[in-house]
Amino acid sequence: MIIGGGPGGYEAALVAAQLGADVTLVEAEGPGGACVLTDCVPSKTFIASSEVMTGYRHEERFGIRSSGLAGVSVDAKAVNDRVKKLALAQSGDIQTKLIKAGVNVVRGRARLGEDRLGHTHQVLITPDGGETYPVDASTVLLATGATPRVLPTARPDGRRILDWRQVWDLEELPSHLVVIGSGVTGAEFASAYLAMGVKVTLISSRERVMPHEDADAAMAIERVFRERGMTILSQSRGDAVENTGDGVRVTLSDGSIVEGSHVLMAVGAIPNTSELGLREYGVDVSEGGYVTVDRVSRTNVPGIYAAGDCTGVLPLASVAAMQGRIAIWHAMGEAVAPLRLRTVSANVFTDPELATVGVSQNEVDSGRFPARQVMLPLTGNARAKMSGLQDGFVKLFCRPATGQIVGGVVVAPKASELILPITMAIENNLTVDQLAHTITIYPSLSGSIAEAARQLMLHEIQ
Ligand SMILES: Cc1cc2nc3c(=O)[nH]c(=O)nc-3n(C[C@H](O)[C@H](O)[C@H](O)COP(=O)(O)OP(=O)(O)OC[C@H]3O[C@@H](n4cnc5c(N)ncnc54)[C@H](O)[C@@H]3O)c2cc1C
Repeated sequence: MIIGGGPGGYEAALVAAQLGADVTLVEAEGPGGACVLTDCVPSKTFIASSEVMTGYRHEERFGIRSSGLAGVSVDAKAVNDRVKKLALAQSGDIQTKLIKAGVNVVRGRARLGEDRLGHTHQVLITPDGGETYPVDASTVLLATGATPRVLPTARPDGRRILDWRQVWDLEELPSHLVVIGSGVTGAEFASAYLAMGVKVTLISSRERVMPHEDADAAMAIERVFRERGMTILSQSRGDAVENTGDGVRVTLSDGSIVEGSHVLMAVGAIPNTSELGLREYGVDVSEGGYVTVDRVSRTNVPGIYAAGDCTGVLPLASVAAMQGRIAIWHAMGEAVAPLRLRTVSANVFTDPELATVGVSQNEVDSGRFPARQVMLPLTGNARAKMSGLQDGFVKLFCRPATGQIVGGVVVAPKASELILPITMAIENNLTVDQLAHTITIYPSLSGSIAEAARQLMLHEIQ
């Protein structure tokens, strides 16, 4: 029994079916879950449209003459229609895959039933428009994801005060978007709307945007945002938001007011666990409502596993999917390696992008993880010069004595693609010497990764 059909749930369902299990997956919104229908897939599709706009920004620098950005307009409805169509098609593809694999897909809601202290668990399924019925299962996987956090003084109304699941219904671009929250989600939306020509004010409660990311990278991206005209209000908290009919009024914690046409609330997410009957069943839940799991996705109750955003381990689709697969491999007696977060690469899809993997600067600076490091700006890279790139860098961390690569940061367009060689180096315990001896394409941005490794090699010799 799998409750929730996002990456945590559907990937697990496919593995379980492949191993011959009798699998039922219950999903409230549609296969693919929030990841595919409202969050990750729609936001990245929207960003793809914003990247088309970015292409028009400095064309005269390349000797191309046109009316530039002034001659380009965004049809917000067409952009959002494309976003929703692509999300639905992706959800349909997943549904087909599940059905082909033999998974019984039920559209509806499920929760744990009565604990009868036996070898099976009871799950109560309420299909859309139907009566609740119980199902017995040897294994239950909870993969119910999370929902945007709502501030009582700034409740989304779907018209001017929006959460990230409501923006896809806008028929026109905001004239002035105020984004509250400068974490990854807030920064990605602020970046994409800015690229679309929208006036953006980003309200950040900390002294810099993306406070949990590498500080050099976050500062580089903040600099780009400001240069492109974004207003960033640091150490400011959006306390209340009012829809004034033709706009929004945001009251900050210091009493000052920011006005705009729309507000996007990006103040985090809360796990969808309150209606699963977990406490009654004896499943351990943390204070924030996350299901407590170990590295093979087990909860404290034998036979009940959890994966993805409802566990709060790392809110990434890739991690959710791996937690789900691990749960099934473990439950079905397959050989399984516990989840390793060290080699999980993560990307922020701003412009430029910010990708990270492995040891962080904070861990090195605090002495928790001794490492040598180098940070190489991309301005010296031939390919970057040809493409007119002025921002971005590659940072590499290695163990002081052995030169083993242990972490990296890339700030660049498509950093999400460039991080792979560093991830592979960490996964396979490669050293800076081995990376430095790799012949890269000339000219290429990836050349800077090998160059960074060479610089760490030189440090070793000195
Ligand atoms: C705007 C945004 C952009 C993102 N971009 C990226 C990205 O680029 N890359 C990345 O790796 N991650 C990204 N993420 C994170 C990623 O979307 C999540 O980590 C991922 O969706 C987690 O998967 P999941 O399976 O845990 O849950 P979800 O995808 O949230 O799916 C859970 C599903 O369970 C359903 N459900 C809940 N309760 C029940 C119930 N009782 N019965 C039946 N069904 C139920 C929900 O309706 C939901 O559809 C992004 C997140 C956001 C908010």
